[in-house]
Order: sequence, then C-alpha cells, then structure tokens
Amino acid sequence: MKCPKCNDTNLMNVLGQLDFCPGCQGTWFDKDETAKYFSFEQDIPNLEVALATAQKKDFFCPRCNNELEEIQYDGSSDLLLDRCNGCEGLWFDSEEVDKLMKLANNQESAMSRMARLRQKLNEE
Ligand SMILES: [Zn+2]
Ligand SMILES: [Zn+2]
Repeated sequence: MKCPKCNDTNLMNVLGQLDFCPGCQGTWFDKDETAKYFSFEQDIPNLEVALATAQKKDFFCPRCNNELEEIQYDGSSDLLLDRCNGCEGLWFDSEEVDKLMKLANNQESAMSRMARLRQKLNEE
C-alpha cells in the first residue's frame, strides 16, 4: 500500500496490523482497527456528526483508491482525520494519533472518576 499523502512511499506494517508511513509518519487504520487500538466501542463516536463535516481533499485511499474525506473526529474537536467512504478506513497524520490517544486517556480517567464516585456513594 502507498501513503495517501506522500508520493510513492510504501506503508510499513507495524504492530502486526497498522500501516505506517516512514515518510510523513502517518498511519492507516482499517475499519474497526481504530476502535480496537484505542479501546473504543466504535471507530468514530458519532459517524453522522462526523460525516456532516466531511470535505474532499484530493487524497486517495491506500486500500481501495476511493477519494478520502476529511472529517472532524467528534464534530467539534480539532482532530481531523481522513476517512474512506468505501472501506471505512481512517488515515491519521503523525500528530493525530497522539491527539486521539490523549482524548482516549481523558475519557478513561473520566470513566474511572465516575466509577470511584459511584463506589463512594454506594458505601455511604
Ligand atoms: Zn506519507
Ligand atoms: Zn478505502
């Protein structure tokens, strides 16, 4: 597979499943891999909201060559991903993986805070 953003750079397989570009350090996630990698229920929290922000950017899917659409991950954040409407894969530019990792960690800590609170309420 070729990187959608660099000319003619081959993506390298990393972590046994993801496709990483040694040129621009972007990463391709096939459908369901985003959810799996970040432990989310689904790749995109609300697909309808995200798709409402879609803009074509003249990049093409490394998997099926459809034109990618740039979407706002949750309809408001500054996390922009390129999504393929054909195979439903997602392209992350290099800093976008970190951004989503931070979002995932925040969500995680919010959830564990809630769990602690609930436990405390049960004890009282
Ligand atoms: Zn690249
Ligand atoms: Zn595709």
